[in-house]
Amino acid sequence: MERVYWDPEIETMKREELEKLQIKKLRWQLERVYEHSEFYRERFRKAGIKPEDIKSLEDLSKLPVVTKTELRQEQSNYKPFGRYAVAPQSDWRELHPSTGTTGIPVNTLWTYRDAEIIADHTARLIWGFGVRKEDVIQNAFSYGLWVAGIAVHYAAEKIGSFIIPIGATSSERQIHYLQHAKSTVLLATPSFGLYIAEKLKEKGVKPEEISLRIGSFGGEAGTENPATRKRLEDGLGIDAYDFYGLAEIGPTFAAECEEKAGLHFVEDHYLIEVLDPETREPLSVGEKGVLVITHLSREGTPMIRYWTNDIVRLEDEKCGCGRTHIRAVGGILGRADDMIVYKGENIYPSQVEEVVRSFPELGNEYKIVVTKEKDTGIVTDVKVLAELAVEVENVGELEERVKKALRDFLLVRVDVEILQPNSLERTEFKAKRVEFVFE
Ligand SMILES: [Zn+2]
Repeated sequence: MERVYWDPEIETMKREELEKLQIKKLRWQLERVYEHSEFYRERFRKAGIKPEDIKSLEDLSKLPVVTKTELRQEQSNYKPFGRYAVAPQSDWRELHPSTGTTGIPVNTLWTYRDAEIIADHTARLIWGFGVRKEDVIQNAFSYGLWVAGIAVHYAAEKIGSFIIPIGATSSERQIHYLQHAKSTVLLATPSFGLYIAEKLKEKGVKPEEISLRIGSFGGEAGTENPATRKRLEDGLGIDAYDFYGLAEIGPTFAAECEEKAGLHFVEDHYLIEVLDPETREPLSVGEKGVLVITHLSREGTPMIRYWTNDIVRLEDEKCGCGRTHIRAVGGILGRADDMIVYKGENIYPSQVEEVVRSFPELGNEYKIVVTKEKDTGIVTDVKVLAELAVEVENVGELEERVKKALRDFLLVRVDVEILQPNSLERTEFKAKRVEFVFE
């Protein structure tokens, strides 16, 4: 019989059992960081508690969150890993810096055991969206800057699939291997996936002429946006699944299953919380807030309550696939710091994306130009730039329709300019969607 789950016992565990396992692992981690890390001891002291005061998962909220800014500060004071690198050097295996797209990268350490666990649960995730031994995996995730590449590589090795470690290289080379190595699985950022689809179309290669059956997209939000998912699926002839990770936490610790019902987290190794973006108070399941993660088994550079800045909404109902691990429905809904407050409304780039990609006349690329007052930081203007995908007789009329659709969706009026095809910059890594202009 075909193996359904990679790790059936863990993946379908009753939630009460899972919580018991989490609290056991949490206590192990808290005692360990308290003993070995001055960085964490200071935080316990400030909160006026000891590890033994944390008896339930709820008690964890007595500790403050850890932000990326604090990690940067800590690593610049205590080079190169900060005082939260708690594993002895003899156990170290790999160093992974964050992408550094915003400021100095944060260094993360994996021990031998960490890398083994990451490989195993990444295999669990890619198995979950249907990757099997017979597959040819074209891994267009970066192997250098963003660590998802290497995690998927190790996972493919565990499953026993054939892998092409191509990395985030040019679309020309990607298409060459799609055609000649007959890749069946593609892993990339969603913007790169769309770009490859666009290039295939330009070359006159139809989706049915290549062998792809699965695409999984991470590194940026957007895959679960219905209009984006449809473009990826139609353009590449695949089923498209969302994939999620962060350098500081783990390259790959959540992915969609074949039900396409949101990102399943690997809850036996990562404790998931959602906090209010303003008050940082815990929210209930179903409420939209900032994702905060605690490492339950990480040895190298463990994070206790890491503030990801990513906005999610959780669902803990058992999924149609039979897995019990919690899901972020709709994927990553935005970045807390990408949120644009304009005339009293909160705008996320993902909402703009959903509207732009619902117009067949428009291409995949878009940009949001936000004008702010230099002194106050108040947003005075928001303009959406999009591109034509086909020839349109009356561009002005199309602009008006896009404007109206955006106003209905965002509840605030924004400006729209539609450009000729290929006017906006393309990316093979992560797309930069918001541009700030100060006046
Ligand atoms: Zn599922």
